[in-house]
Amino acid sequence: MKYDVIIIGAGPGGIFSAYELTGLRPDLKIAVFEAGHPLEKRKCPIDGDKVKSCIRCKSCAIMNGFGGAGAFSDGKYNITNDFGGTLYEYIGRDKALELMHYVDGINCRFGGEGTKMYSTAGTDFRKICLQNKLTLLNASVRHLGTDINYIVLQNLYSELKDKAEFFFDTPVDSIEKTEGGFLVRHGEAVDECRYCIVSVGRSGSKWMQSVCGALQIPTKSNRVDLGVRVEIPSVIFDTITNELYESKIVYRTEKFEDNVRTFCMNPHGIVVNENTNGIVTVNGHSFEDESRKTDNTNFALLVAKHFSEPFKDSNEYGESIARLSNMLGGGVIVQRFGDLERGRRSTPRRIEEGNVRPTLAATPGDLSLVLPKRILDGIIEMIYALDRIAPGVANDDTLLYGVEVKFYNMEVALDENLETLHKGLFVIGDGSGVTHSLSHASASGVYVARHLVQHWENP
Ligand SMILES: Cc1cc2nc3c(=O)[nH]c(=O)nc-3n(C[C@H](O)[C@H](O)[C@H](O)COP(=O)(O)OP(=O)(O)OC[C@H]3O[C@@H](n4cnc5c(N)ncnc54)[C@H](O)[C@@H]3O)c2cc1C
Repeated sequence: MKYDVIIIGAGPGGIFSAYELTGLRPDLKIAVFEAGHPLEKRKCPIDGDKVKSCIRCKSCAIMNGFGGAGAFSDGKYNITNDFGGTLYEYIGRDKALELMHYVDGINCRFGGEGTKMYSTAGTDFRKICLQNKLTLLNASVRHLGTDINYIVLQNLYSELKDKAEFFFDTPVDSIEKTEGGFLVRHGEAVDECRYCIVSVGRSGSKWMQSVCGALQIPTKSNRVDLGVRVEIPSVIFDTITNELYESKIVYRTEKFEDNVRTFCMNPHGIVVNENTNGIVTVNGHSFEDESRKTDNTNFALLVAKHFSEPFKDSNEYGESIARLSNMLGGGVIVQRFGDLERGRRSTPRRIEEGNVRPTLAATPGDLSLVLPKRILDGIIEMIYALDRIAPGVANDDTLLYGVEVKFYNMEVALDENLETLHKGLFVIGDGSGVTHSLSHASASGVYVARHLVQHWENP
């Protein structure tokens, strides 16, 4: 065997399995294959000037490379079993929380010390939500911020680079089962290992599907979340965000009994374009650095959609809606809530005259031409529900950007050790469909690394 363990993907799942393995068993030969670039070479060519839209780089600097999809994210590590994945269904609730706290400790040691941890424990806000037909989900959240998140990743790479062999710009093509392990093919080369940990995230979902097909590992289709990003003056939400930073609030609509939820809150943040394989959707960022804070707060309102028969591809549905908004708006569309309610498009003038200064240059338009009625009705109901706990959310000038899409991977059939039916082949992180967040993906990496070490000593 050339390697004891090969890890595929250097996102949080891959990084934390490498961290734990190299810490517990420095004698093991470990390789990490990553399709994207090293962290310092991850630069998206879109500069809004010479390069205005996606030029489909061989490896997308936003989604691929050391740090994975979350490298330039807001770095919110939510410690909870209430959202962010279903890791607890495999390893138990207490273990999942313990591992998320363990990951938090490492992030703090590697540059995150001094950042703030927020918690919903003991807040009066839960009662206020319930009185207004809203449910506040339980969580503690470490907010690293985009800037500190990057520093933590830099420090983790410095720690790991001499302990494991990293191969960047090396997408793995296939995995084959052998007598005593696995063959991992990449380009013209092939490497053999005893154990293989696959952590390819969202961007590796199609590849994951092909691996599962080739190795006859069963899979289940997953969901897609669709909605808008809301931008309001930060004072409207300050009482909530100052205490909780990120609150996940769920509303059950009266009309259709659908659940609409808040997602990814960015107090004093900015709205940004997100480019996934050439499809432009919307997202949000915020910064720890005071000088980069804005007067606005943004968050997403999302509705989950599942498909089963005859159409199964939930992600394709989400992509089609996003493509439609790109076709109409040339990218992301922005609309004032008042214009949406009056059934008219927003115009540059109406946006200009409003009292919320957009932090993203999007195309003024009409979101009702893009989002299905049922989803849009749910979002409008939720905006009025939020207005009861934070008056001002339903103001005419509130900005809605669309569309925001959250894609999920199909679920890979795994046992309680996150191991496939092929002993020694593990699938972790978002690529497994089990996790959808930084903390769950990282925790799954630590879990499998510990399981492997134990297995080694007591096969
Ligand atoms: C803009 C943005 C903001 C986000 N913000 C947050 C947040 O604040 N909080 C939160 O909890 N979550 C956030 N998320 C989600 C979070 O980033 C993911 O849940 C997390 O990164 C999943 O980690 P992972 O290791 O499973 O996968 P990823 O981070 O996606 O890493 C997978 C890696 O595998 C590599 N790969 C794929 N296929 C192959 C292959 N065939 N061979 C080799 N390498 C391969 C990819 O290049 C990638 O680097 C955000 C995501 C995005 C896109």
